[in-house]
Amino acid sequence: MKKLLITIDGPAGAGKTTVSRALADRLGYRYIDTGALYRAVALAAKTRGTNPKNDAELKGLCAELELAFVIVEAELRLFLNGEDITDHIRTAEITMLASTISARPVVREYLLDLQRTLGKEKAAVFEGRDMGTVVFPDADLKFFLDATTRTRALRRYDEVKSQSTQTLEEVDLDIQRRDRNDSTRELAPLKPAQDAIVIDSTDLSVAEVVELMVSHIVE
Ligand code: C5P
Repeated sequence: MKKLLITIDGPAGAGKTTVSRALADRLGYRYIDTGALYRAVALAAKTRGTNPKNDAELKGLCAELELAFVIVEAELRLFLNGEDITDHIRTAEITMLASTISARPVVREYLLDLQRTLGKEKAAVFEGRDMGTVVFPDADLKFFLDATTRTRALRRYDEVKSQSTQTLEEVDLDIQRRDRNDSTRELAPLKPAQDAIVIDSTDLSVAEVVELMVSHIVE
């Protein structure tokens, strides 16, 4: 069967990660979480005290980063300069910093090359915000996964509540702030590609979304 490159874009909390993983498993494809790459740059900026609004500093930082996805015990882990950072990039602070630095052209340029290199072999599901619009405009199949803001906040709250002190209202406000940042930035704003299949997951289970996607792929 032809190897496809599939993109799944959408706002925070729409269920992209769970769905992308499940779809990749189902197809025997690689799953690439591009949000994790922005989070890794944010973590590096925080650790090294880089000013997230200074492009020259960010460029210097990116030049020193080596990012690699590695499968460890059947789990996808992200390594930054040889260190497994997977468990350190999901805090509320890194989440907001990732959103801030993702608006900087130098960071997007650096990650654009890396993502396209990762996509060369196809047979992959790429999850992010601009996969179908900017990184892979020629992807074989593009999905845009959405849900109401409240549903997304509830899902995110359920995910983080055991490790975080954030209330549901705080998570909701963070999601709205990130939506605003991600949709209004000049470069690669969050929006469906013209040829994307838009799926509203508000009233759908993960299995239902995956089935819907598979039916489009088969078609
Ligand atoms: O998907 P995730 O929530 O992990 O992404 C973290 C942040 O990285 C997003 O809020 C967004 O600002 C940025 N991002 C992006 N482009 C992508 C993936 C993520 O700008 N392709």
